[in-house]
Amino acid sequence: MELTYLGTAAAEGFPGIFCECEVCRKAAANGGKDVRTRSQAIIDNQLLIDLPPDTYWHMMQRQLPLPGMEHVLITHTHSDHLYLEELYYRRKGFCVTNKRMTLYGNDALARKLDQFLVDTRSSYEDSLLACCELKVFEPVQIGPYTVTALPALHDRSENCLIFLIEKAGKRLLYGNDTGVFPDSVWQHIKGLPFDLISLDCTTGTQRDGNNHMGVPDLIDMKARLVDNGNIKEHTALIATHFSHNGGLLHHELEELLHPHGYAIAYDGMSVRV
Ligand SMILES: [Zn+2]
Ligand SMILES: [Zn+2]
Ligand SMILES: [Zn+2]
Repeated sequence: MELTYLGTAAAEGFPGIFCECEVCRKAAANGGKDVRTRSQAIIDNQLLIDLPPDTYWHMMQRQLPLPGMEHVLITHTHSDHLYLEELYYRRKGFCVTNKRMTLYGNDALARKLDQFLVDTRSSYEDSLLACCELKVFEPVQIGPYTVTALPALHDRSENCLIFLIEKAGKRLLYGNDTGVFPDSVWQHIKGLPFDLISLDCTTGTQRDGNNHMGVPDLIDMKARLVDNGNIKEHTALIATHFSHNGGLLHHELEELLHPHGYAIAYDGMSVRV
């Protein structure tokens, strides 16, 4: 499997859309890996994860094959991960397609998508959309992938998810917007070796663990993942979903996390496992 990071920022982007702080000014001046769009990823150019407001930019800049996309996993319904307004343009008059796009996610996704279609006088049929509500810890087959939704410790007003994705003997975990895993997740993945583990690092220098994670949390997570039997010699460990509030530019994240075996994601980065 090949995981490509299309966007690696938290909700406001990095630099933040209206922010003049020192970190944002430096990021804007540096460009390159310091400029991050809202979080989105794709596996093998066919299984999309999240639908942020920067999706269109990713289509233009990263050759995201959006018109033919059939499967989209949604971690949760915060606007940096689900920007429903773009789905307006799947209807006749804006779009010619015969491909149905299925969104897979939690109960809030199903509820909000239903309401969006009512509010905009469309339907699943008119927009060639479908919604599949995932139950945590229950694997589903999506194309060639076995996907298991796991609960994330994030916004308590909905069942936020992270994803265990398996194909052809390879296994990866895609997490963002999560604190330290709940005990039920540690139990579920006990003894499972991963080829790639991607984790939230929103809060940078600061510890959190309850809603997001920062560098100190990721250092602890590594030890716990080893203890839990999830790390093999070649497991790719990757930090993503960064906020300027964390105070760290790309090279500073590398300096703090490389010694602990983490790569730092950037927009456009691909990892093959
Ligand atoms: Zn987010
Ligand atoms: Zn800022
Ligand atoms: Zn969120």
